[in-house]
Parts: sequence; C-alpha cells; structure tokens
Amino acid sequence: MQDSSATLPVILTGDRTTGPLHLGHYVGSLKNRVALQTTHRQYLLLADTQALTDNAHNPGRVRDNVIEIATDYLAVGIDPNQSTICLQSHLPALADLTLLYMNFVTVARLERNPTIKDEIQARGFGRDIPAGFLCYPVAQAADITGFKATIVPVGEDQAPLIEQTNEVVRRINRQAGVDVLPEAHALIPRVGRLPGINGKAKMSKSQGNTIQLSATADEIREAVRRMFTDPNHLKASDPGCVEGNVVFTYLDAFDEDHITVEDLKARYIRGGLGDSIVKKRLDDVLQALLAPIRDRRCALARDPGYVLQVVKRGTARAREITDATLRDVRAALGLFTLN
Ligand code: ATP
Ligand code: MG
Repeated sequence: MQDSSATLPVILTGDRTTGPLHLGHYVGSLKNRVALQTTHRQYLLLADTQALTDNAHNPGRVRDNVIEIATDYLAVGIDPNQSTICLQSHLPALADLTLLYMNFVTVARLERNPTIKDEIQARGFGRDIPAGFLCYPVAQAADITGFKATIVPVGEDQAPLIEQTNEVVRRINRQAGVDVLPEAHALIPRVGRLPGINGKAKMSKSQGNTIQLSATADEIREAVRRMFTDPNHLKASDPGCVEGNVVFTYLDAFDEDHITVEDLKARYIRGGLGDSIVKKRLDDVLQALLAPIRDRRCALARDPGYVLQVVKRGTARAREITDATLRDVRAALGLFTLN
C-alpha cells in the first residue's frame, strides 16, 4: 500500500464467496466502500474460509466465486491502487487469531448472537449446526482485528457481529493489560437491509431472491416484472399500499429523484396508479445503475489474468499486515515465541 496512507483510518469489509454480488451488497456496503476508499486505508476480504462454514459440501461454489466477486469489486469502482483486495484462506494469521480468540468467547454467547440465530433458521440446520458456522463470528473478529480496522461498512444484519468482535477486543486487551487491539465501529448505510425480490426480509445469495450486479437487461426486467407489490391492489383504480411493497422499497433505495418517488407513492395510495407504471420506473432506474457495472464486468471478464494478479498482489500485502498483528497480540499476551 502507498506509504502516504499509513496514517489513514483502516476499513475492513468482505464478502463470503458464495455467489456473485447483488443489489443488497450495493446499497448495504459496496457504495460506501467505493466512496471511502480515497480517504481510508481499505481492505476487502474475499471470505472463502467463512463461506465454507455453510458450504463445506460445495467447495466448487466457494472456489468459483473468488474471482467472480473480485471482478464485481472492480466493476463497481473499487480501485486496486487505493483498496487492497485479499483472500482470507491465504492469510494464515487470521486462522491463528481465530483459534486464540475462541478461548475468549463462550459457546452460550455464540448461540445468543441474533444474526447467528436468524441464519441457523434460514439455513434449516436444526440441531446439526456445523461447529465452524457457530464460530464464524470469532473468525470475523479475527478478520477485523487482524487489520486493526476501526471502521466496518456493513449491512444491518452484521451489527451484532461487530458487537461480538468488540467484546473479544476488550477481553484480549484486559488480559494483555494494554490496548493491543482497537475497537471497531459498524458503518451502516441509510438502507441497511434490502429485502429480496420475493419480499423476504433480506436479499441474500443463499435465498435465491437476488438481482445480481451482473444481471442482463432482460434479467432485470423479468425480476422487476415478477416483483411482489400490494396483493390487494388488483385494479389500477384501487387505492394501494406502499408499506412492504417491494417495488417502492427499491425505488426508495435506488431512485435518486426522491420528489418523483414521493409523488408516485401519493398517487398509488390515492388509487389510479397501476403497478406497471411504478415497475417501469424501477426498471429504468435499475437499468441505468447496472448497465455501466455490467459493461466494466464484461471488459474485465476478457482478462481474467488481471483480476487474479490484483488478488495475488493484495493478498501478499495483507499477509504482512495480519502477520504483524498476530505477532503483536501474542507478544502482548506474553506467549512463547521462537523468533
Ligand atoms: P450469504 O447468503 O451467502 O450469507 P449474503 O447475500 O448475505 O450471502 P454476505 O457475503 O453474507 O452476503 O454479505 C456481505 C455484505 O453485504 C455484508 O456487509 C452484509 O451486511 C451486506 N449485505 C448482504 N445482503 C444485504 C442486503 N440484502 N441488504 C443490505 N446489505 C446486505
Ligand atoms: Mg450473509
């Protein structure tokens, strides 16, 4: 990383390599990351180890999405000269920190984590929860602290995980008797949780209710056409409801022209505005947002060697940082060291 950036505040975010990125990632995190990369030292973690915690029987999926997501980053405007894109499984210090931190977290606390509770239910694990899955908040604490990050731009679903990270930080610091690790703050955007196109609480790769950043014009149009609206709004003349109406939720999230959106809402509530007009507006907005991202993606796909190089270079840089943190933490705790 450029030397001049050494004193900038550090940001760490990442994405599980479980599928291509979607609109939820865009509003929940990517938009912030692109904006913040010029004023912060930013690390983007391709979380392939964490992806395995619920995809151990599907390693191909986890592998294939590494380059896929790195390409998404570059396509939305992450600049590899300003941000460091790195691969979690190739940063051994993060695994070492995870093992160390596990001794500072109880199983009961992990089971109480609201995000984990929701995800266990969504994935239908029942009582057969993989131990790796239950412990992934500890690994996430290792990711964040491994870079000594103080800012984590994430969607709303991640807030309890940042809280848990800070608990680990406080325990380590207390044990060490010195503030070897900084606490981190979640940076949650205005739209902290984008619902799925089926109206489900969260657009999520694992739920198959997404519009991907790489979606074609036809896929976008089809997704908008099928989108959930107000089930009681049968005729255009009927008064409609905008609460819980996904098309309006998306307009609120993506349409920069708030006056037009408010006007559409008022006309919809009054009656006399058909779903097709509102959907046409949303389709136009999403097409305009995603067309340039898709074009950059196509250009990058023609040169996969370049994306691979970006990940290799970023991982080498990240390795130095995370190795140094591991050394600091072990020394602060007074653990034995051979060198
Ligand atoms: P998976 O289903 O595999 O968990 P995901 O779609 O939830 O995938 P993650 O890789 O877990 O994506 O999340 C990466 C980042 O994107 C996190 O900061 C998360 O908060 C944010 N994010 C994901 N989905 C949404 C969403 N629907 N709305 C807002 N932010 C989101
Ligand atoms: Mg997730």
